[in-house]
Amino acid sequence: MKRREFLKVAGAGAAATAIAAPAIAQSAPELKWRLTSSFPKSLDTIFGAAETFAKAVAEATDNKFQIQVFAAGEIVPGLQAADAVSNATVEMCHTASYYYFGKDPTFAFGTAVPFGMNQRMVDAWNYFGGGIDLMNEFYKKFNIIAFPAGNTGAQMGGWFRKEIKTVDDLKGLKMRIGGFAGRVMAKLGVVPQQLAGGDIYPALEKGTLDACEWVGPYDDEKLGFHKVAPFYYYPGWWEGGPMLHNMINIGKWNELPKSYQSIIQSASHVANTWMMAKYDAGNPAALKRLVAGGAKLQPFSQPILDASWKAAKEVYDETTKASADFKKVHDSYMAFRNDQYLWWSVTEYAFDSYMVRATRA
Ligand code: CA
Repeated sequence: MKRREFLKVAGAGAAATAIAAPAIAQSAPELKWRLTSSFPKSLDTIFGAAETFAKAVAEATDNKFQIQVFAAGEIVPGLQAADAVSNATVEMCHTASYYYFGKDPTFAFGTAVPFGMNQRMVDAWNYFGGGIDLMNEFYKKFNIIAFPAGNTGAQMGGWFRKEIKTVDDLKGLKMRIGGFAGRVMAKLGVVPQQLAGGDIYPALEKGTLDACEWVGPYDDEKLGFHKVAPFYYYPGWWEGGPMLHNMINIGKWNELPKSYQSIIQSASHVANTWMMAKYDAGNPAALKRLVAGGAKLQPFSQPILDASWKAAKEVYDETTKASADFKKVHDSYMAFRNDQYLWWSVTEYAFDSYMVRATRA
């Protein structure tokens, strides 16, 4: 019997409601998901992006789709968040793709690569330059689909116990820096170290560590590095616009109604904007406090930047030869970057550089 005829026969309102209800329930089911963050609650901006995302999803679904956010270590350690998504321990995570550089260097392009793009450019590549699709084609190998969900903006070059005047000053320096950037630094003689956030301060204090990179003023201030390693360098050329991602298990994603898939993407946009704006709003005051508290703010010298650029190029050449996946994303990303800087060199750069001078005069 056709549905319309059945309704006509059934007639009464109660029966019609009984038939309609399952269809409504299916398009907006009650769902509870778990999201594991790669970050501790104390990093309220980067951790807060996941909470902001989950709140936006709950509000848009009248609380039917609830995503509970767990801090790093509550379900799995921060650096295993993507693994927990791959094997469906959790439905999704909020993480930095480059943490998984050791599995495959292609992961680096999801977050940031040395001398890569700034935050605006990274957004443009992801949303309009094919970045999201290229990365999702790669993430598929790990049962993951991912969407941009936050950015720190250009990071600082980190904290050094001693002044770094020449390229030679980097030789033998034990620095907390990981992944792709660590590989580039190693070419300059730096000895890269992997340390969790809480272990950095005591190592700098004891002198078993000479330098560290973290994020920027707002987060760095909380860890107090300026008290033990006062030379605060910029820019963090390995992280010009590091992007965070919501990574979702593909099987779980495919089970979602289209409306929930759409809401997840919209709420990821919300987190992406929220996180960058919060860092931009908080960094100036934090920087002033750090300098007042003894931080010695210094730019990396031109020879150091040039040597780093050359070393990064060597690592890119080696890695594009070794990995077809890496090369595919690399070629798209770098062509996009070069065009972006062509455009940036005109009005964005001219405007910003004039404004820097004018507002400081
Ligand atoms: Ca960093």
